[in-house]
Amino acid sequence: MVGILLYNVKMKQMTYHAPEKCWVGDQQKICYATRDEAEAAALIAEHDYGAPKLTVYKCEYGDHWHLSSATNGPRK
Ligand SMILES: [Zn+2]
Repeated sequence: MVGILLYNVKMKQMTYHAPEKCWVGDQQKICYATRDEAEAAALIAEHDYGAPKLTVYKCEYGDHWHLSSATNGPRK
């Protein structure tokens, strides 16, 4: 699960921003507003968590992007 750390200026601390999610089939997926954002998250997951190769795709239900592992594919 990849979240976004934001620096809260008022509280002077890093806060965890829970990303938007939507249901795709029978799983809940994180929504990314832009392709760049999704690709950055995929790289972080691969490098930091040793996740398998992740692909970025446009959601068919909304104006945002999701990550999909190449091994599992978007469908089951
Ligand atoms: Zn979606």
